[in-house]
Amino acid sequence: MPNYDYDLFTIGAGSGGVRASRVSAAYGAKVAVAEEYRVGGTCVIRGCVPKKMLVYGAHFAEDLVDAKQFGWDIGETKFDWARLRDHVQNDVTRLNGLYTETLENHDVTIFHERAEITGAHEVTLANGKIVTAKHILIAVGARPLVPDFPGSELGITSNEAFHLDELPKRVMIAGGGYIANEFAGIFHEFGSKVCIVNRSDQLLRSYDQGLRDRLLQISLMKGIDFHFNTTFKNITKNDDGSLHVELDGHDDMDVDCVMFATGRAPLTEGLGLENAGVETGKIGEILVNEYSQTNVDSIYAVGDVTNRVQLTPVAIREGQAFADTVFGGNPKTVDYGCIPSAVFSHPPLAGVGMTEGEARNKLGSIKVYQSDFRPMKNVVAGRSERGLYKMIVDDTNDKIVGIHMIGPEAPEIMQMAAVAVKAGLTKSDFDDTVAIHPTMAEEMVLLK
Ligand code: NDP
Repeated sequence: MPNYDYDLFTIGAGSGGVRASRVSAAYGAKVAVAEEYRVGGTCVIRGCVPKKMLVYGAHFAEDLVDAKQFGWDIGETKFDWARLRDHVQNDVTRLNGLYTETLENHDVTIFHERAEITGAHEVTLANGKIVTAKHILIAVGARPLVPDFPGSELGITSNEAFHLDELPKRVMIAGGGYIANEFAGIFHEFGSKVCIVNRSDQLLRSYDQGLRDRLLQISLMKGIDFHFNTTFKNITKNDDGSLHVELDGHDDMDVDCVMFATGRAPLTEGLGLENAGVETGKIGEILVNEYSQTNVDSIYAVGDVTNRVQLTPVAIREGQAFADTVFGGNPKTVDYGCIPSAVFSHPPLAGVGMTEGEARNKLGSIKVYQSDFRPMKNVVAGRSERGLYKMIVDDTNDKIVGIHMIGPEAPEIMQMAAVAVKAGLTKSDFDDTVAIHPTMAEEMVLLK
């Protein structure tokens, strides 16, 4: 038996890598992790977590205005970006410490540097040290994709958005997906003039059309601009430091910041995959089987680098399943069916299962139940914003095949509704459940 330095060497200490390493170590494996940036990965350091904190901060803009209708005189309000940014970063640092501690408490060795694969059982660290391992797990995530055109380097991505010195007065966001819509809401609530520029006229393509239309309508009503069916031609810097943007088929625009939110690509360049003969796909994603194993027996990959489903909880499940399979003696695969997801836009939206369109194409005979309502808080606040909940039911057996919601707290409600869809419950099961009154969620058990 060859003598390896470690049982497992994980490259990348993000959501998937940390879970896999910690659980493998708990199963008795000798584990090391290499991380070139901060322990925690995209989600904790420059993604979901700090983004959600900014979303919380952004909500106050409307809450402070609405407070007046609820009897509160607050006086003049002012938003201090630097204060929020620094508080968010302090918490990111705290979480980075907790993740590091978790690994250390499980006796996982952390190398705070880049690692490159130099063989089926070998990695070389940035300092030249060669380390061997029985298994290598690649969990390096993805990086923002920036379209290639003259001046694109003058833009930023969500990575930099968390660290801006000051809030841009005018911001152009490229893309129509998760990050574009979430940051459009954030910047808008903080007082920036926001314009979303998208190559098609479709926002959030994977979500139900009714919700997407509602988000667009509310976003326009709030004052967010949209330029659809356009691409970037050129960005140049003006003398005052602002940016001059030339778009295809639209007037030129001057803005203070362009942020690209045009998808994320697996971070496989420079990883040394060719040294071990690891196969990759069209956009550089690592190809794996249902156990997250690559074509090289000793090398596995989990999370965004495999481009299966780019969501943190999925990467965590893949990391857990890897550890159970390889070190726990309990082979496990991940169930990718019925994954709920949410967009933390203003208002947020969430979905699970088939959209109405998908269900019509797949099942043919469906029933769509829907509640289009004004949340009580919005009524008192004098806001016209309406929520929309949809339930898609298979007409042949009453089974719920999809639930979709847009409105305050939709992601919180969706997490519970997703259990019902995953469990295969029927519309009648919802009807049989007594409402909690008055709530927004009760709409789901009162659908007619
Ligand atoms: P998305 O895939 O959500 O959206 C990308 C957008 O950019 C789409 O509108 C797409 O258009 C457009 N686009 C893609 N390529 C180009 C290009 N070359 N030129 C111009 N436009 C382009 O990606 P995001 O960057 O918003 O987010 C990345 C991933 O991170 C998400 O897919 C999601 O999995 C995850 N994420 C999840 C969050 C959550 O769970 N709340 C929050 C943030 C990110 P088209 O529709 O035509 O392809």
